[in-house]
Amino acid sequence: MGGAERKYVQHAFDTNWIAPLGPNVDGFEHDLEKYLGHEVSVAALSSGTAALHLALIILGIKAGDEVICQSMTFSASANPIVYQGAIPIFVDSESATWNMSPAFLKNAIEDRISKGKKPKAIIVVHLYGMPALLDEIVEISLHYNIPIIEDAAEALGSKYKNRPLGTFGNMAILSFNGNKIITTSGGGALVSQNKDWTKQARFLSTQARDQAPHYQHSNIGYNYRISNVLAGIGRGQMEVLDERVSQRRANFQFYKQELSSARGITFCEEPGAEFFSNRWLTTLLFNSEGERTKIYDALNNKNIESRPLWKPMHLQPIFEKYPFYGYDICKELFEKGLCIPSGSNLKKEDLEKVISIILSTL
Ligand SMILES: *Cc1c(COP(=O)(O)O)cnc(C)c1O
Repeated sequence: MGGAERKYVQHAFDTNWIAPLGPNVDGFEHDLEKYLGHEVSVAALSSGTAALHLALIILGIKAGDEVICQSMTFSASANPIVYQGAIPIFVDSESATWNMSPAFLKNAIEDRISKGKKPKAIIVVHLYGMPALLDEIVEISLHYNIPIIEDAAEALGSKYKNRPLGTFGNMAILSFNGNKIITTSGGGALVSQNKDWTKQARFLSTQARDQAPHYQHSNIGYNYRISNVLAGIGRGQMEVLDERVSQRRANFQFYKQELSSARGITFCEEPGAEFFSNRWLTTLLFNSEGERTKIYDALNNKNIESRPLWKPMHLQPIFEKYPFYGYDICKELFEKGLCIPSGSNLKKEDLEKVISIILSTL
């Protein structure tokens, strides 16, 4: 927490706004709109997963439709496709940003079209805060006229060409889950320049009530709005977002400086000056899965938590039956990669402890 959260939460209690609406909800949306700029409109919701589900509903994704999704991601990027009865089509990563490969994306679209079904949306993820190759992916989206949903759950505060992530897609989603760079304990948002869409998200997320004195419904609704109490935490967190990004980037810099001389460690570098990652998590690649596991065990023995990179969706038991376009890039990232301690509150001694365990184990 940054400090001002209690003030906003206290205000919710003092004014008795303990509801999925109220001044903090409006204020949090306004803060996010101001932060992202580019004339986006924001609907604050109960989670990033809910935001993605509504994004698909608003784009009209129905049972049997196909939706392209980056394979290298957290399962919440893909689950809402299945909630809709639609079919996820998974696409491999490229090795510069570890995000969606434009070449395999193009392959996937061409092949699906040749099989008689044009994908209805592209879910591109900015994993660990690193911007995807947006120029190339946006160009493909425009060429085939398939809308992009940016999954920026891990990437609030990151930029591409000095423009905040979450402002590139036709829609984007954010997450304020407990582990994200800022948190409301649980929460999310749908972002779009299309104000009709965010208006629709607010409508659908509060049970789709038609204008009437009684409860009247012409649509299936959802209970996906954020509460005014949690939005108060979000307002306080927005005041420290830039500081959190600096702290996370400083973690990465320190790890890199201390570990880059060691043989057998690779970092995910920003591929050029146009990429600015919030460095939500610092991630490393080792030479082999065996080496990665040795480091994981050594940290674990000292009661330090680390985690292999996210296991690609096309390798997950629940998703392996769906089509995958690519090679072994994200599989190899999963096998060799490790997320190391990256919290905003880590002290220099904490980082040094992690570094010394890694170096002595290697
Ligand atoms: C956390 C996360 C989500 C889901 O957000 P929740 O707020 O936890 O529902 C979606 N996609 C990615 C990539 C995430 O890391």
